[in-house]
Amino acid sequence: MSESVREALERAGCRYTPQREAVLAHLRSVTNHPTVDQVYEAVRRELPRISLATVYNTLELLVERGLIKRLSFGRHAARYDARCEPHYHFHDVERDEVYDLAVPFDADLLAKIEPQLAQRLAQQGFRVSGYHLIVEGRVETRRDVADDDAGRG
Ligand SMILES: [Zn+2]
Repeated sequence: MSESVREALERAGCRYTPQREAVLAHLRSVTNHPTVDQVYEAVRRELPRISLATVYNTLELLVERGLIKRLSFGRHAARYDARCEPHYHFHDVERDEVYDLAVPFDADLLAKIEPQLAQRLAQQGFRVSGYHLIVEGRVETRRDVADDDAGRG
């Protein structure tokens, strides 16, 4: 990523603060799709006085400004992802861990499932803006699901 964290914040119209920089920098440095609590634990090593509420509010601001994505996995805590281009996830439902899947994103997948889907939804007044795919299962070996080739842009 050539753009610095500070430049990204400014481009997105977020006033620079050390807290915002630390939260976004942390998310960009990891691939584990952390929860609010995990981001808080990591960021407070650098900023010991930061509060959980500030981390939460910062994450929500970064989502709102399109700098990160919020991922929901049913009853599990929300996850945050600095990788913003469309990609698929694998959710280990037992350990509640999330991995990127190292397969290309298919923008036409919905049409492959049902060619008329977008058109039918449009007739009902819905406009398709995208889709998410979460493959669920369990990790049964210690090997990572995500392939390093998936990269982080
Ligand atoms: Zn991801």
